[in-house]
Amino acid sequence: MANQTRILAIHAHPDDVEILAGGTLALLAAAGHSVTIVTMTPGDCGSADLTADEIAGQRRNEAASSASLIGAEYRCAEFRDLAIFNDDGSRRRVAEILRRYKAEVVLTSSPVDYMCDHEATSALVRDACFAAPARNYATHAVQPAPPLPAIPHLYFMDAIGGVDRDGAPIPAGFYVDVSSVFEKKKQMLARHRSQREWLRKHHEIDDYLEMMERWTREIGSRAGLELAEGFRQYKGHPYPQSTLLEELVSSGSVVPTGV
Ligand SMILES: [Zn+2]
Repeated sequence: MANQTRILAIHAHPDDVEILAGGTLALLAAAGHSVTIVTMTPGDCGSADLTADEIAGQRRNEAASSASLIGAEYRCAEFRDLAIFNDDGSRRRVAEILRRYKAEVVLTSSPVDYMCDHEATSALVRDACFAAPARNYATHAVQPAPPLPAIPHLYFMDAIGGVDRDGAPIPAGFYVDVSSVFEKKKQMLARHRSQREWLRKHHEIDDYLEMMERWTREIGSRAGLELAEGFRQYKGHPYPQSTLLEELVSSGSVVPTGV
């Protein structure tokens, strides 16, 4: 398809992307863009009953099934829960993924969020975006992909719940109206069946679909919309500054802040 843009959404665990950007990705996929969802881990700690390998296998399948609902590809970077760090080997691994999928737009986790894997992923992806075009930066992959032609456009998703570690709201740079695709977002998250059970036990949250809807409404209320997802563009000076993501989702769906 002409003018198809390659979008990579990369977050820590299976279901984070659906909760924070599932609607936006559904809009982008419907507009004909190429969407890949990457999780850093297979969510291997997300069970009170199954072994790490058992729950990881189940969650990889759930994530792939969710991605398939919008025609997206799914890949796990095979880090492990609570063991994501912004170090040399990890940065090379993430840079290889960016190169392999020829990422032009990257969506990742908020630099400030409630748990360590989310914050480490944010820093790793930010720095891997810088490294991926560098010709002399070797990823040490068995069959390395070529360097990217340029640093991708980089956006941070909202923090989980839209708040920082003190519970204070983190404002987005702009908001995407996801009302028209909210059912799809819900269907995607519902494919993560194992997590409903886990959240009941570990977080004492009865229904994760309701929780996601509450958060999406909260973000929407900040933009004067019913249901929305917020994003902040990373503006470090070598990174692209143009408003590509805003342009790729239909213009009527985007509400800038401060208006
Ligand atoms: Zn997570």
